Amino acid sequence: MQDKEKSYKSALKVNPGIDQPSSVNPVAVSRYKSRNMNLLKTEDFLQGILAGDKTILSKAITLIESSLPEHQLLAQELIGRCLPYSGNSIRIGITGVPGVGKSTLIESFGKYITGQGRRLAVLAIDPSSRRSKGSILGDKTRMEELAVDNNAYIRPSPSAGSLGGVARKTRETIVLCEAAGFNTVFIETVGVGQSETAVATMVDFFLLLMLPGAGDELQGIKRGIMEMADAVFVNKCDGDNIDAALRAARDIKNALQLYPLSESGWLPVANVCSSLTRTGMDKVWDTVQKYYELTTENGYFVSNRKQQSICIMYDSIFESLKNNFYQTKEIKKTIRLYEEKIVKNEISPYIAAQDLLSAYFEKNISDKVKD
Ligand code: GDP
Repeated sequence: MQDKEKSYKSALKVNPGIDQPSSVNPVAVSRYKSRNMNLLKTEDFLQGILAGDKTILSKAITLIESSLPEHQLLAQELIGRCLPYSGNSIRIGITGVPGVGKSTLIESFGKYITGQGRRLAVLAIDPSSRRSKGSILGDKTRMEELAVDNNAYIRPSPSAGSLGGVARKTRETIVLCEAAGFNTVFIETVGVGQSETAVATMVDFFLLLMLPGAGDELQGIKRGIMEMADAVFVNKCDGDNIDAALRAARDIKNALQLYPLSESGWLPVANVCSSLTRTGMDKVWDTVQKYYELTTENGYFVSNRKQQSICIMYDSIFESLKNNFYQTKEIKKTIRLYEEKIVKNEISPYIAAQDLLSAYFEKNISDKVKD
């Protein structure tokens, strides 16, 4: 008591003053901690995924999408462990011009599918930056019923990057979703362009949505995309659009018959639906099922998946070689000089390519010798 009194009266007493906030941002600290400490072990991830735990599945997909080397290592190990449990699903690609009603259809068709007792994973491929941030919100508000459906899992596109990179992450995500028991996978492509070709290498069935007024719309869709489609549904067949939609479906049916029969032996279907009024969802599902029955019977379903896996290997080799080539210091240094020479007609583009490739391979060989 005496001591306390003394210290109180002491000239050396320090007034507490006002607490200063820490110079370290607490949010950043907790994020850093969670990044490093919340890393579950592969086995925990695997068990969580196999049990269908969506939170763990989301964390695992975040690892796939991360560029941190330790995350990538864990992700690759996990994908390897999940592979034996994957493959047991039907993968459906959904495409069409912006505004055709893809998100609305995913909600309506998705609800129809979960109503059939199936488990649905919805993924998207959007290599552009356009929707990379907004898509979560945008899609979730348009898919509000599906977003709270226990039997559905929605994952927006990995953030913008090269198409090859985004496609790879989506393929790997499919493996995890299937291991988590999702037996139906939707892959939405955003816009009409190259991403369709990438999606075609990872789905079993390709659904193209179109708008009533096919004459004009046909021109907006690249021929190759029509050729890829296993079914073309004219959406928005409701209200005043019904006649136009039916006419469009007839025109599309005629156009589809002009294409050579696909390897699958399946004759593409043209039909109508309305995602808004949810009519025709049974027809979409019926078409998918008929396709599945035919292609499992004639062996195409399995052979196509095998072919896709082989393609992935070649794509992956190509992508790695390309990246390695362009990131090589010597190439980075000289490639612009070659560009200038080509423009001035001082060298043929073929010789320039040959020179650069020779420099690249020689460098790699000399590096190996040094090792
Ligand atoms: P996305 O860009 O292809 O994903 O298209 P959305 O699903 O966002 O739909 C674009 C607009 O079309 C929205 O205003 C929808 O409400 C509307 N829409 C979608 N499907 C239908 C449909 O079947 N009938 C009608 N009338 N409108 C629809």
